[in-house]
Amino acid sequence: MSESFLRQQFPIFQQLNDDKSWVYFDNGATTQKPQIVIDTVNRFYSQQNANVHRASHRASAAATEAFEQTRKDVAAFINARSEKEIIWTKGTTESVNLIASVLAKGHLSSGDEIVLSALEHHANIVPWQQIANEHGLRLKIIPVDENGVLKVDNIKNVITNKTALVAISHVSNALGNINPVALIIAQAKKHGVLTFVDGAQAVAHMSVDVQALDCDFYAFSGHKVFGPTGIGVLYGRQVLLDGLPPYQMGGEMIEKVSFSGTTFQGLPFKFEAGTPNIAGVLGLGAALAFVRQHRAAIHTQEQALYTALIEGLQSIDGIRFWGETSNSICTQSFTIEGVNNQDLGVLLNEHNIALRVGHHCAMPLMEALGIEGTVRISLSCYNTLEDVSRFVDVLKRVLCTLRPTSSSVEVLARQD
Ligand code: PMP
Repeated sequence: MSESFLRQQFPIFQQLNDDKSWVYFDNGATTQKPQIVIDTVNRFYSQQNANVHRASHRASAAATEAFEQTRKDVAAFINARSEKEIIWTKGTTESVNLIASVLAKGHLSSGDEIVLSALEHHANIVPWQQIANEHGLRLKIIPVDENGVLKVDNIKNVITNKTALVAISHVSNALGNINPVALIIAQAKKHGVLTFVDGAQAVAHMSVDVQALDCDFYAFSGHKVFGPTGIGVLYGRQVLLDGLPPYQMGGEMIEKVSFSGTTFQGLPFKFEAGTPNIAGVLGLGAALAFVRQHRAAIHTQEQALYTALIEGLQSIDGIRFWGETSNSICTQSFTIEGVNNQDLGVLLNEHNIALRVGHHCAMPLMEALGIEGTVRISLSCYNTLEDVSRFVDVLKRVLCTLRPTSSSVEVLARQD
């Protein structure tokens, strides 16, 4: 399959390519949407709009059927045992908040330890930190080495009988490293510890099998895997979700309400109060179908892009890579000696190159590495080899401005 075939599925590039080509390297923040996702969302609002699970009319029944079919598709996509294990949320952030909040109601008690890693996104730190503060729990952190790679050699002493839960990202959003989650989960299982995996950066780039991983909970966001914003997934092992209390209260999640008391629905509805993001769910279904259909081509393209990127960047004087190039999704973080990340981001933007500079919502990681932030390139299947070479060329030119060589400084000095 040609490189242009995948790109052609994403209309945003056709539009922006008219005048100046746009190099979009901020896919870790959010991905672009293929036509099939846009069409699915449009079709819902223009032809199919009705609420789900409520009415006896035909439109509602059709919307409910498509909505519930997508739940089955998502379950199959991550190899969950049942669609009852798939809870719709707004995104990874809400998934973490949901699970942290319901676990705090009875499953975590004072003195328990929650294990996180030093490279977590703030979304997988702050909710745990809040419940730790409220319930007298202790946070324990799996450290990183000087490159930002998790140090798991001492894991036996981190995850112990005192641990109640381990919450760990599958892939670091800041550096792109694939974390040894299977090893960490195996250690957790030895002590009967609950495990939550933040898969926000993994799902677009790797096949995820929650049964093979043996995690208890897994979360991801639709918008990072070619789907709409405002829709996400929380997977949870059925037996565990069954035993947890509801998150929010309202319509859809109840079985019977009276002023003397309320009973709640079973899974998955007890965690889904109110009208859900129906168009978002259908759009996510289309996005995952796109990934399923093109998985091999996506992988091949991402590998080719990443190899070219690393080769190109290696020719830059004073560059420092963070993370592990040999164990990464197609994301690379770097800093360049003597160059301010923000200045670089501003100048690259002037050349229509979109990337991310800063702490990437991982301030504790930056602190551990002793840096303010990095420049992050996060690639996706619709990027091209030409994007990569153009980026490397522009980067070299921009660096001449930001970091004049001694000879150009001499010239400038003579002109004074
Ligand atoms: N975790 C990770 C690893 C992420 O990369 C992100 C998004 N940058 C999040 C959590 C939060 O995702 P969202 O903003 O879609 O809820």
